[in-house]
Amino acid sequence: MNCKKYTKLNTKQFNYLKIIIYHIIALLVILFTIFVYKCPMYYFFNFPCPGCGITRAHFALLRFDFKQAYHYHPLFFIAIPIILYVPHRNVLKRKLSIKAEIISIIILSILFLMVYLIRIYNKSIFDLIL
Ligand SMILES: [Zn+2]
Repeated sequence: MNCKKYTKLNTKQFNYLKIIIYHIIALLVILFTIFVYKCPMYYFFNFPCPGCGITRAHFALLRFDFKQAYHYHPLFFIAIPIILYVPHRNVLKRKLSIKAEIISIIILSILFLMVYLIRIYNKSIFDLIL
């Protein structure tokens, strides 16, 4: 009896399984973020991180309160494309090259760092502390 025949997935089935698992993980992360999540950096160091406020910004966005969303995190509009792109990049017909992805990561990191430093400098980030 050949058990391998029944247990081994072909590449297409494996890719579908991967996509399903990614979406289940994404759903769990979203549920965790909504109901449980507290910023780990703030939890351990009592200081906000560069991403602090981005979840609240998206809740404000759901209410179409763009001003409040901007107040919570000025780069809130970047998060959704990133969140959608990263897990789907292998199934997209047109995706960025590795070089373009690395450049994007560097640019986004610098952007987040600059916004973080500005928010610390003008103390607006401390308004977010609960
Ligand atoms: Zn944070």
